[in-house]
Amino acid sequence: WKNAPPTLAAVFGAGRTHGDKIFLVHEDERVSFENFSRAALRLAAQFTADGLRKGDRVAIVMRNLPEWPVAFFAASLCGAIVTPLNAWWTGAELEYGLTDSGASILVVDNERLARIAPHLPDLHDLTRIYVARSTEEPQGDPREIPLESIIGTPHHWGDLADRPAPDVALVPEDDATLFYTSGTTGKPKGALGTHRNIVSNIMASGFAAARSYLRRGETPPAPDPAAPQKALLISVPFFHATGCHAMLSPALFGGVKLVMMRKWDVMEAMALIERERITGCGGVPTIAWQIIEHPERGRFDLSSLETVSYGGAPSAPELVRQIKKVFGKAQPGNGWGMTETSATFTSHVGEDYELRPDSCGPACAVCDLKVTDPEGNILPAGEVGELWGFGPNVVKGYWRKPEASAETFVDGWVRTGDLARLDDEGFCFIIDRAKDMLIRGGENIYCVEVENALTEHPAIMDAALVGRPHKTLGEEPYAFVTLKPGTTATEDELRTFVAARLAAFKVPVAITFSNEPLVRNANGKILKTELKKLVGA
Ligand code: ATP
Ligand code: MG
Repeated sequence: WKNAPPTLAAVFGAGRTHGDKIFLVHEDERVSFENFSRAALRLAAQFTADGLRKGDRVAIVMRNLPEWPVAFFAASLCGAIVTPLNAWWTGAELEYGLTDSGASILVVDNERLARIAPHLPDLHDLTRIYVARSTEEPQGDPREIPLESIIGTPHHWGDLADRPAPDVALVPEDDATLFYTSGTTGKPKGALGTHRNIVSNIMASGFAAARSYLRRGETPPAPDPAAPQKALLISVPFFHATGCHAMLSPALFGGVKLVMMRKWDVMEAMALIERERITGCGGVPTIAWQIIEHPERGRFDLSSLETVSYGGAPSAPELVRQIKKVFGKAQPGNGWGMTETSATFTSHVGEDYELRPDSCGPACAVCDLKVTDPEGNILPAGEVGELWGFGPNVVKGYWRKPEASAETFVDGWVRTGDLARLDDEGFCFIIDRAKDMLIRGGENIYCVEVENALTEHPAIMDAALVGRPHKTLGEEPYAFVTLKPGTTATEDELRTFVAARLAAFKVPVAITFSNEPLVRNANGKILKTELKKLVGA
């Protein structure tokens, strides 16, 4: 693989060199890099026997299971376009993803197959359905095959006979992945990424930590081969570009152990950090908050943590201070990215971030950012406008959506739909999504700014601001907040608190309190469309 072109086959080869080290931990299953590779090659051979050809789509509809990366690489090695669908989707949404992608093979877990079952008769492109964890009654579709009959269970992957890789020549410009966007601002769109896009992203983010040292004129520490294996607790689903990236980059490429959870649970997460000596805890910002705020945190030994990093959604600057206070030696990290940039596009950890707790970092190596006015003119540093990204990890376009592609991808740049500013050194500050901003009587209100002010209040766990329609002003700010357990706050108190920090026109006109966390999608983004409905927007 050392001389291989930059494709997922090379990443797979890199993973195999880690041999008997542990790659995946899931409940009582522990899978080495070698044993994972055997299962992936076995499934790839089966896909080849199924007639899978280069460019065909293989859909994965599973929660985070060891079989997920197996299916991912089996399909990639055959030259197919891996199409991970959101495991939280309803049957109808999954039908959309399967029809839109035209997948011919589906690898699905039990639970989600039951959801898709009523739609199976309409899914004519599907020729094979591999069912992982097929402990329940089969759905009776003739295309169904238990995945275990091909690769067995993760406990036995080491016993599988070695199989050669499929005889498919991959080049960097071949299509590799079709990840769907989160659907925060509209119907999810498939972002078609090439092997080069994915591999560039692995390289660029791997270089990010070293860059922080170089920026400060220091030499990055050399890796210590005798150091214990690093371990990452993965709480983001693999079906999001960021979750998949964690599997590809630190884990397969870097030899880091990946610890999965059946579903996010803060107590279980803390127990796993202690048991597996987790060094990196990544995900969305709410996850870090939940650990910090948990009343029983002190019962667990979390001292193995070296980084607590997150991205995918706005995070309050207060979080950086809390991480330093609570975790001591663990470095906070933040990264911004989108499905269209094959995951991470900006990132920073440690001192760079601590000094700029409201920034998501500079662009990754070999990537570029610009901020423009609505006409597309580049704005000087410090001014807020629309953020654009350029680089080898920007995908080639949306799947079967030529109009949306032409609007979003212009001369190699991707229009992000986010409002941001860049400072003189190129650090990026996300202000808000263009669609999230509200205008009250001509005054711009960036929701994130008000949400951050609210979360600085000691009683507030979570906050969301939306625009409530107003006859003369157009919109007015309306907040939803969740209180931390055992705390109280009144609406007046919070309004006074925000007024002490922000201009009067930004103070929410009304606040709804809840003891339940605000409803978020799988990527940690608050479902503002739901909240907007509640205020009649
Ligand atoms: P859709 O495009 O379908 O409406 P989406 O934009 O939420 O959904 P993703 O590609 O998963 O789909 O998310 C990318 C968006 O997430 C970015 O455009 C940005 O708004 C937000 N985001 C990602 N990382 C960060 C971050 N570190 N800080 C603030 N916002 C972030
Ligand atoms: Mg988007």
